[in-house]
Amino acid sequence: MLQQTQVTTVIPYYLRFMKAFPSTKQLALADIDQVLHLWTGLGYYARARNLHKTAKIVDAQFKGRFPATVTELVNLPGIGQSTAGAILSLSRGEWAPILDGNVKRVLTRVHCIEGWYGHRKTADQLWALSAHYTPKFRVAAFNQAMMDLGATICTRGKPKCELCPLSSVCVAHQTHQETVFPHSKPAKKIPIKSVSMLLLRNQQQELLLEQRPPMGIWGGLWSFPEFKNKAALWTFCQNNLGEEQDNTKRVATMRHTFSHYHLDIEAWSLDIAQKPNKIMEHRQVAWYNHKQPSTIGLPAPIIKLIKKAASEIEEH
Ligand code: SF4
Repeated sequence: MLQQTQVTTVIPYYLRFMKAFPSTKQLALADIDQVLHLWTGLGYYARARNLHKTAKIVDAQFKGRFPATVTELVNLPGIGQSTAGAILSLSRGEWAPILDGNVKRVLTRVHCIEGWYGHRKTADQLWALSAHYTPKFRVAAFNQAMMDLGATICTRGKPKCELCPLSSVCVAHQTHQETVFPHSKPAKKIPIKSVSMLLLRNQQQELLLEQRPPMGIWGGLWSFPEFKNKAALWTFCQNNLGEEQDNTKRVATMRHTFSHYHLDIEAWSLDIAQKPNKIMEHRQVAWYNHKQPSTIGLPAPIIKLIKKAASEIEEH
């Protein structure tokens, strides 16, 4: 959970998650829907899917005992070199360097390392520095301290150098270049994709959701039926529901930004008198009642659209 997300955001999710799945075994046996549901709102859902897969592997192949070498750990889904180092050093006190975003920032500033982390040469330099500084003793305390230093003192925007124990040796601080380092990722314009979504509502005010394929964006989560444009959406309504274009109503437009593209969503609502017998064959679909507690995983933009549809009902 802490990959890409701050501790304060994670805490309530972590507590709920641990209550539901107090052991690897219980997580391994859980349904992916339940796992994604407890992840709803945290984003980066691949982490949840990987955690679930990892629990299954640990349960089946390692008899429930977490592997204890970097080589075995990095072979598990979702665990890279730095997470493997954090697991080994924090849980077992073993010598294992780490290089999460916070440690990268501290080391980059202390040594004024040129270039962007995503480039091999820069990453290799940082790994070498991390290994060089990681002590043989009290490795857990050292790694935790480095992460905390980056998260609380050597912050991205305004580092608090006056409080920093490294200020006398930090080259960036000594040369007043704290905010010049680390260098940013080379700018790249990200593409815009657009989709039309159908908020199909029956007389019980339930909304039709479909489960997305396990791989790809929002994999395994539940979303509204999606079409490449409004013409395709209208054709679907006409051919499958016998409804005319005029019966649909545009209820929202929104942009959701992923790391590699913007997604422009145009949402259309359609009220139908009866649940159709067959709809979206070969797809996993369900009628969703917003008044009942949700037990499925929903992406944040879909939650917003559900709320929008619910407020519309209340207005009428
Ligand atoms: S002195 Fe400032 S820039 Fe250098 S490591 Fe400390 S907080 Fe970061």
